Amino acid sequence: GKPRVVVVGGGAGGATAARYIAKDSAGEIDVTLIEPSRSYYTCFFSNLYIGGFRTIESIAHSYGTLASDYGINVVHDWATGVDRAAKSVALAGGGRVPYDRLILSPGIDFVAGSVAGWDLTSQNAMPHAYKGGSQTELLKAQILAMPEGGTFVMVAPPNPYRCPPGPYERVSMVAHVLKQSNPTAKIIIADSKANFSKQGLFEAGWEAHYPGMITRIGPDFGGENVTVNPAEMTVDIDGEVIEAAACNVIPAQKAGHIADLAGVTEGNWAPVNAVDMSSKVDPEIHVLGDSAAQGDMPKSGFSANSQAKVCANAVRGALTGSRVFPARFSNTCWSLIDADDGVKVGATYEATEEKIARIDGFVSQTGEDAATRKATYEESLGWYDAITSDMFG
Ligand code: FAD
Repeated sequence: GKPRVVVVGGGAGGATAARYIAKDSAGEIDVTLIEPSRSYYTCFFSNLYIGGFRTIESIAHSYGTLASDYGINVVHDWATGVDRAAKSVALAGGGRVPYDRLILSPGIDFVAGSVAGWDLTSQNAMPHAYKGGSQTELLKAQILAMPEGGTFVMVAPPNPYRCPPGPYERVSMVAHVLKQSNPTAKIIIADSKANFSKQGLFEAGWEAHYPGMITRIGPDFGGENVTVNPAEMTVDIDGEVIEAAACNVIPAQKAGHIADLAGVTEGNWAPVNAVDMSSKVDPEIHVLGDSAAQGDMPKSGFSANSQAKVCANAVRGALTGSRVFPARFSNTCWSLIDADDGVKVGATYEATEEKIARIDGFVSQTGEDAATRKATYEESLGWYDAITSDMFG
C-alpha cells in the first residue's frame, strides 16, 4: 500500500505539514491528521481580538478544505498514546492509526505548579488565554467587565514560551481597550524575566500611548516572587497584595503532553535534528513547532509553519524518493502597540549539526515615523491571510 503519514495536532505546524505532504505527493502518500477541535482559533491575532481590531470569527479556521481539496483524512479525536515499536497512534475514541512516519505538533501544555496558587481549575477565575478560543473570549469579557479604576494584573511567563512578544502585545491591547472604556484603570505586570522581546519598542509605545497606565515589576523588584489567590482575586507580588479586577496568569510552558507520552521529550521539550525536524530519540517521529527544542528560533506560528515545510519536504523525500532541498527557516513576529502602530522582529535560520542556527535578522527601531509603523501593521494583515491559507488551504 501507500506510505502512511500521521500528523498529531492540526495547528500551525501540523496543518501545514499535512497540507504540504498531501499537496506535493499528489496522492502517493496517505495522510491522516488527528485534531480534537472542529475549529482552530489562532493565538496569533488573538491579542488583536482582545483589542477590538478583529472579531473572534475572523481568527477561526476549519478543516473542511484539508479534507475536500487535499484528500487528508481528518480525524477529530485526541491522540492518547504512541506505540513506537508497533508504529501506531492510539485514539481516545478507541482506534489505532498505523504510521510509517509520525509528525507531532501538539503545541504547549503548562508546567504544573509554576505559579504558586494557580492550577488548571483556576483558569476560569484567572485565565491564561495562551491556547486559542474560549480562554481568549473569557479574558476579553473579564477586561470589559472591570470596574472603573480597577487593576488588570498579568503574571508573565518565564522563558522559553510561545510568542516571546505575545504577553507585551497583549498588555498593549488591554491598555488600548481600557483607555477608551475605563481610562483610570491600571495594568500591572509581574515578570520574572530581566528582559523581554522588543522591550524598548514596547516601553516607548506604552509611554507615548498609555502614559502612567502600565507598571512592570521585574525580578529586581520581586516580580519573580508571585502567589495568586484565585478565590479572593488577589495577587501577592513580593509581599504586596494587590486586588485584581482581572488577572491573566501565563504559566511556564512545556511540550504538549502527547510528546511526553511518545517518549520523545528530554526535560520540557523534544530535541530534534534541524535538517528534517526528526526526533533525536526516534528517527521515524518528527516534532514541529512549540513542542520542539528549536535552537535559535522563537516559538511562533510563523516558525512552526516554516519548520513544517522543511519537515514535509524531508518526509516526502524519505518515503517517495522526491528531491530534498536544504533546510532554510524564517520567522517574523509582528506586534500591535496601538492603532496603526505596528512593530516587528524577524530572522532567517539554517540547519547545523547541532541546532536551528540564526543567520541574520532585523527589528523595528524606536522613533520610526507613523507611516512606517502603519505599513508594518498592514504587512501583518497580509501575513495573517497568507499564512492561514498556507495552513488550512
Ligand atoms: P498549535 O498551533 O497550538 O497547535 C497544536 C494543536 O495540537 C492544537 O490544535 C491542539 O488541539 C492539538 N493537540 C494537542 N494535543 C493533542 C493530542 N494529544 N491529540 C491530537 N491533537 C492534539 N505566532 C506568530 O507567528 N505570530 C504571532 O503574532 C503570534 N501571536 C501570538 C499571540 C498569543 C497571545 C499567543 C498565545 C501565541 C501567539 N503566537 C504567534 C504563537 C503561535 O500561536 C504558536 O507558536 C503556534 O500556534 C505553534 O504551533 P504548533 O503547531 O506548535 O501548536
